[in-house]
Amino acid sequence: MLRWAEVYLNRLKNNYFVLKKIAGNKKVIAVVKANAYGHGSVPVSRFLEKFTDVSMFAVATFDEGRELREGGIKNPILVMSNPLLEGFDCVKEYNLTPVVFDFKSLNIAIKNRIPFHLKVDTGMGRLGFLPDEWHSLFDKVDFSLLSGVMSHFADSGGDPEFTRCQYRLFVPFARRILTVKKVPFHIDSSGAVPMVLDEILTHSRVGIALYGCKPFSGFSVPVEQVMEVKSKLISVKTLPAGWSVSYGRTYKTMKDEVVGVVAFGYADGFMRSLSNKWMVKIKGNFIPVRGRICMDMTVVSLDKVEAFVGDEVVISDRELTFDRMAERGGTIPYEIMCDISPRVKRVFIEGEDGKILSRF
Ligand SMILES: *Cc1c(COP(=O)(O)O)cnc(C)c1O
Repeated sequence: MLRWAEVYLNRLKNNYFVLKKIAGNKKVIAVVKANAYGHGSVPVSRFLEKFTDVSMFAVATFDEGRELREGGIKNPILVMSNPLLEGFDCVKEYNLTPVVFDFKSLNIAIKNRIPFHLKVDTGMGRLGFLPDEWHSLFDKVDFSLLSGVMSHFADSGGDPEFTRCQYRLFVPFARRILTVKKVPFHIDSSGAVPMVLDEILTHSRVGIALYGCKPFSGFSVPVEQVMEVKSKLISVKTLPAGWSVSYGRTYKTMKDEVVGVVAFGYADGFMRSLSNKWMVKIKGNFIPVRGRICMDMTVVSLDKVEAFVGDEVVISDRELTFDRMAERGGTIPYEIMCDISPRVKRVFIEGEDGKILSRF
């Protein structure tokens, strides 16, 4: 194997319980959309279903939901961003719970007797019924099918004041629903979990923090990065002084320099914008990237460490985190996780002793 990602399921479990404890009495909806942020949605969900008290899974599309059912998942599956326009056969066949965020989908759900969660817009400005629609919404909802009510925070890390405003807008609506039916209420994603907004809210929807990254840079919950991305050296040689490296010749050796070629590039998920300004790890040493990151390969300096073809190269782990990489590359860890390509083989590991879990 030249490039692979080790998924440490024990860390996933620890992160789950750390978050659950902070969330107080709320139940956990594990967000496993986009292939569980690149970790593998079926293995991650099976593991959580078996070893935790996770109450629900959340995905983005009906296809993602079907994949979980085909993988044996029994818990409720909430489909958050797929309108009920077509393809709702699959909703019934696989027992998926759609999120209804407009009147068209609401009518389809009612006509076809599909249980659903309702989404209201309290300030995200994306999906959901706006406050001036709530009154007519209340009259139109078929409460026998209503199985949850949700909203979404726009800036839980950056603006706690606005977050509280959204929350205060949501609570009276939820109370009105409660006069008819007791259902799950959920707004927080990872970033809002430390705010412990638990009046009326019954569930938290957590994604990024389960996988051990920070939803915003000041997030202080002690979670550990679940994924470690690795590759190997496929060439080692000494370049003469004044020799340029990689496309665009953005790096030139000052003296004789030993370099290695790592089998990992932007097609694998190594952001090209990190060219010349990031590092990898070989035998515990941090090694700078030289020149531009290519599609399948990256050149690194081997001046400080003796290494050979076939040696392991760490692209990301608990030290070289996706959080740090994202900060350096001007993006967020979410994007980096989602960009680790399918050609990077996922290997599922049960504990720090490295035992590979073949059954997941
Ligand atoms: C992705 C998503 C989440 C999870 O957010 P994290 O920041 O990863 O915890 C929660 N709710 C909705 C609606 C989402 O789309």
